[in-house]
Amino acid sequence: MVRVRFAPSPTGYLHLGNARTALFNYIYAKHTNGKLILRVEDTDKERSKKEYEEMLIDDLKWLGIQWDEGPDVGGDYGPYRQSERNEIYKEYIEKLKQSGHIYKCFCTPEELEEERKKALAEGRPPRYSGKCRNLTPEEIKKIEEEGKPYTWRFRVPDGETIVFEDLIKGVVEINVNEFGDFVIVRSDGSPVYNFVVVVDDALMEITHVIRGEDHLSNTPKQILIYRALGFKEPKFAHLPIILGEDKSKLSKRHGAVSVRAFREDGYVSEAMFNGLALLGWHPKKDTEVVSKEEIIEEFDIEDVHNAPAVFDRAKLKWLNGVYIREILDLDDLTNRAIPFFEKFGYEADFEYYKKVLNVIRDSLETLNDVQERAFPFFVDEFEYEEDAKEILQNEESLNVIKTFYEKVSSLNEITQSDFKAITKEIQKELKVKGKALFMPIRVALTGKTSGVDISLLVEVIGKDRVLQRLERAIKTFGG
Ligand code: GLU
Repeated sequence: MVRVRFAPSPTGYLHLGNARTALFNYIYAKHTNGKLILRVEDTDKERSKKEYEEMLIDDLKWLGIQWDEGPDVGGDYGPYRQSERNEIYKEYIEKLKQSGHIYKCFCTPEELEEERKKALAEGRPPRYSGKCRNLTPEEIKKIEEEGKPYTWRFRVPDGETIVFEDLIKGVVEINVNEFGDFVIVRSDGSPVYNFVVVVDDALMEITHVIRGEDHLSNTPKQILIYRALGFKEPKFAHLPIILGEDKSKLSKRHGAVSVRAFREDGYVSEAMFNGLALLGWHPKKDTEVVSKEEIIEEFDIEDVHNAPAVFDRAKLKWLNGVYIREILDLDDLTNRAIPFFEKFGYEADFEYYKKVLNVIRDSLETLNDVQERAFPFFVDEFEYEEDAKEILQNEESLNVIKTFYEKVSSLNEITQSDFKAITKEIQKELKVKGKALFMPIRVALTGKTSGVDISLLVEVIGKDRVLQRLERAIKTFGG
């Protein structure tokens, strides 16, 4: 059975890169009928925050990602927060001590920094010199008596090349001399990521480690630890790096990159899911609009591209518009749009929101667009734009809206077909047509020279508000 994990550090908002990692793990688990484990990597005590963990969980759920085991849902392999697994780590550190795989290193940060600078100046890859590697027990005892702090370093087998088959990158070979003996336990006694991740992945019986390419260089170190502890190695799959459109690594410089920001900007989760899945993968069919079900059905980890994925913000926006306009059911769309209407102060009941959306959904790309698009449905006391004023400061226009006013007054309610019938009558009676007929009505009802289909607007806002707006225009422009 496939067991994969998403292992975020709760040190900030869920960003697109991590969301894509979570998504591919989820899709792969679903595709294989396996299990997804959420593990919170909160060993960085300074930067990890409970609020971030809560927000990560909330954003993941919003995206439609569900896990089978995790800190919030439990499971047989817990605890699922690294901060609660210290006793477990101690046990395995002990094992590495016993087997001689790790040794005490007394080098100070200053000494190490010196070494590093020297190596860089000489054009060598900076790596630990091995100074403390072969200290005798007597030497160690002596230094310890001075009370010097120490770290534990992993004894890397000199010159060995670690080879592994990455499911996306293919065969990867890294010589250990590129990094040298590395720290496993810091001087304050806390174990480092490369060590705890191995213990956790092994004990949680993770079969496939699917994560960002930025972790590729950690993998040989982790493999050495798997071997030292006698653990079975999982398969690895490193997802391609995500670039911005300028081909540099995607970052805040490229605009909003957190899932939270997209949520707040009115992106719908289906579009995000779809858009994230396209970061390194493409469906076989000739369209980029693919549902979660289709993705799960078709996705395989080997099909993920090795080349960097470019995040195309405009494409995501376009996809979002497709979901809003064509895919979501109207009731569902209404429920999702309500917080946005409310954010802009547009108060109404569900049915009214739904009617408005039915008219404007075709013009929306994000739910934030309701601010502008829904405006004529909610605001009666609007300002007239300059070009709108010009139109109303004209005898013929005023005549049109006065006649229109009379005709609407005589109706019980005004529907789209009433509007069409009335305007036809006016056309005949006043001998005006086209722009000269419709523009005065439009600007009297909205204050603008373009926008919503007026025949639909009048039906939604209803007779009374239509009359009220016409009266206001007539009063303002000298009726
Ligand atoms: N906590 C690590 C991160 O957020 C997880 C890396 C991994 O998946 O091994 O980058």
